[in-house]
Amino acid sequence: MSLHDQTAMAAELDRELSELSLTERLRIVAGLDGRAVFTTSLGIEDQVITAAIGLANLPIDVSTLETGRLFQETVDLIAETEERFGIAIKRFYPRQDDIDAYAAKYGLNGFYESVEARHACCHVRKLVPLGQALSGARFWITGLRRSQSGNRAATPFAEYDAERDLIKVNPLADWSTEDINAYVEAESVPTNPLHKRGYPSIGCEPCTRAIKPGEPERAGRWWWEKDEKRECGLHVPEAAASSVPTPA
Ligand code: SF4
Repeated sequence: MSLHDQTAMAAELDRELSELSLTERLRIVAGLDGRAVFTTSLGIEDQVITAAIGLANLPIDVSTLETGRLFQETVDLIAETEERFGIAIKRFYPRQDDIDAYAAKYGLNGFYESVEARHACCHVRKLVPLGQALSGARFWITGLRRSQSGNRAATPFAEYDAERDLIKVNPLADWSTEDINAYVEAESVPTNPLHKRGYPSIGCEPCTRAIKPGEPERAGRWWWEKDEKRECGLHVPEAAASSVPTPA
């Protein structure tokens, strides 16, 4: 399918999904031609999507990036979620030789020293495994929401991802925090206990802290970097992520 056709299909899907419920959105994508992969970080939004997939028994692959630096609470939640919804969550791991090369160049925790070193770590531990998780997929489902950060304020329901040559689907784009919490309550969705300890957004342990009252949801991610466009590169083109400026 040509670039024009892919873009047109994504735009049509974006319109089609806008008025539907979460389960209906996922069912539409699951019924399209081509493999659909949902990548979960086990955060509360992603738990809602996993629950919707599991409860409706939808043919969507659920995968997670096991970076090797996750909180133990997150690792434990993977197995709990599999049991609760009767699904298998496929784990994708970084390559040991990539980790060794990173440690030799930057040090194991070199990500605190520069944005470049941080992006290099996210590349090895997240982006390379993500590429494996999405290999052969036509649709990539994510838990992005517009209200999570200014960087995500324009998140569509569907868009063509030219870098990965697939259609990215964000079925929670218009959901509020209240919507998420109501779904979790209604469906008894297991969530990461860290959420109740001030972590609305949870990534790797060394790169996530609790937030203070009034701070944006993602303020605890890579908190030592002072710009507002902190992302790991999963949801922005790698070139753009690498060029994010570090203010003085
Ligand atoms: S979030 Fe931190 S530990 Fe995890 S991959 Fe990125 S830099 Fe490395």
